Amino acid sequence: MSSQCSGGCEHIHTKAAHAPIDNHTCHCSVCKGVTGQDTTHVVFFKHGDIEVDNEAGLKRQPFNAANPDGPLELCTCGECGAPIMLDDKQSRIRVIVPNLMGYGDQIEPASYHAFYDPASGVPKPSDGRPVYEGLRPDFVWPEPS
Ligand SMILES: [Zn+2]
Ligand SMILES: [Zn+2]
Repeated sequence: MSSQCSGGCEHIHTKAAHAPIDNHTCHCSVCKGVTGQDTTHVVFFKHGDIEVDNEAGLKRQPFNAANPDGPLELCTCGECGAPIMLDDKQSRIRVIVPNLMGYGDQIEPASYHAFYDPASGVPKPSDGRPVYEGLRPDFVWPEPS
């Protein structure tokens, strides 16, 4: 990808200054519930690498409604309701779902499958990319920024 990519809606714009630190296809039930997609392309950036031009215009709600005290908040546009990003209350990461948050194909495809649950009955992905039951084992959470 180019080092600069951008997204958001017409009221709130986000910009990624650096390449992502993790890029996966997520199979978890929370993403399914929030996006309505069977799997979700999820991209993590270091918190400071996603800039938001109108942070005051964001409406924040728990990403996981069943765990309102969890660290991730879904940020939507207070004006039009478009999903803008997930923000981490601990300021470690910001998360972009490219196809829903205005990034389209500016971000390269996911490198692996995350949170695949064999008990779900969904066939194990066979596209050659690694499949994990969580994040990739070598993923390290960045320090809070
Ligand atoms: Zn997920
Ligand atoms: Zn908007």
